[in-house]
Amino acid sequence: MKNQNIRFASVTPPRYTMKTMSTIASATTPISRRAQNCAPSPTLAITAKANALKADGKDIVAFGAGEPDFDTPQHIKDAAIDALARGFTKYTPSAGIPALKSAIAEKFARDNHLTYAANQIIVSCGGKHSLYNIFQALCEEGDEAIIPAPYWVSYPEQAKLAGAMPVIIQTSDTTGFVPTIEQIQAAITPRTKVFVLNSPSNPTGGMWPHETIKALAELAIQHNFYVISDEIYEKIVYDGNQPLSIASLSPEIYERTLTVNGVSKTYSMTGWRIGYAAGPAPIVAAMGRLQDSVTSNPTSIAQYAALAALAGPQEFLNEWVSEFDNRRKTIVAGLNAIPGITCQMPQGAFYVFPNISALLGKRNGDTVLSTSDAVADYLLSEVGVAVVPGSGFGADHFIRLSYATSMNAIEKGVTRISEAVARLKG
Ligand SMILES: *Cc1c(COP(=O)(O)O)cnc(C)c1O
Repeated sequence: MKNQNIRFASVTPPRYTMKTMSTIASATTPISRRAQNCAPSPTLAITAKANALKADGKDIVAFGAGEPDFDTPQHIKDAAIDALARGFTKYTPSAGIPALKSAIAEKFARDNHLTYAANQIIVSCGGKHSLYNIFQALCEEGDEAIIPAPYWVSYPEQAKLAGAMPVIIQTSDTTGFVPTIEQIQAAITPRTKVFVLNSPSNPTGGMWPHETIKALAELAIQHNFYVISDEIYEKIVYDGNQPLSIASLSPEIYERTLTVNGVSKTYSMTGWRIGYAAGPAPIVAAMGRLQDSVTSNPTSIAQYAALAALAGPQEFLNEWVSEFDNRRKTIVAGLNAIPGITCQMPQGAFYVFPNISALLGKRNGDTVLSTSDAVADYLLSEVGVAVVPGSGFGADHFIRLSYATSMNAIEKGVTRISEAVARLKG
């Protein structure tokens, strides 16, 4: 093992040159550049504000949450309780227990036409952690990570944390938030290392047509970059839409894809922190080494709960999706009835991402609402409705509303937004 990047401290203090001394003296903050460059999560910020108002006794309609509102099903909770009773409370293999890995392999075969061996699968502390491991394992300074916007806020941050430069493709609501093949081609350079594909998407609910996924696969093979396919919302799709795992298209793209998934969104298990990734064995092994040094295994009993989720009954998901579907139609119709708001019908996930361009520049008294942040602040303070500004998703002319909430809250919230918008001048 070469240790050229480690310095062994000795009792003789290192001799600082004038240059390093001045660098140290001019430091105004102890915070690393890496941490300084990491943006705060807008979703968590709006949730905190809404909760503070709630604690003050205000009646808040919350569209901020990025999680299903259903309780975790009982058979999944029971599996964790049983694991606890049986004493599975110790370290497990860092990359996950074998039984869970084989349930994941079966899930990939059953749902995604993908064959992965145990050494191609890693279980992490949430899908977010799997994604972090992928960026850390693949990217470094000088690399570029192509990310279509509107994007999930963590992608650019995780790319930057790995030293890579996020290269953003701007997509439009008029094309379902899907980039054109020309846009993808134009973003590719010799430095392109990874492309982040998230279909169905958070925050837009958009889904890529199969032809565009196929075209991306061809470009990845031709230009030799990797695709990170975040399939966390694959089970929450509407109108008979079929999700497609890009890795299943050919052996060539299978070799260049990291498929990411998790139990958070599908099984309403956001707090359990179990996600997973699968891909070429050497990349997964590198992710495992990182995980060994950073977290070790995901929580033992949560892994047993995830096993019950993946291997157990799936029928209840149909009811959940049809409930989401009803809410989706209600919220889209309600928002589109408000002058100044236009909302596409999402094809998957549980978010709507309405365009609010026509509201920007309008006034509330002397205050001009010039950004999505100002619109979100206005809705919260004026009528007690919490939405997430689009700015954090790379789309300042939009806001995100999660409809993973009751039909009652949706109807009340939309009425209040309509009233707030009607009060704006200009
Ligand atoms: C919620 C989410 C994840 C992962 O969530 P975990 O709780 O960490 O498993 C990944 N990608 C997207 C787009 C998400 O919305």
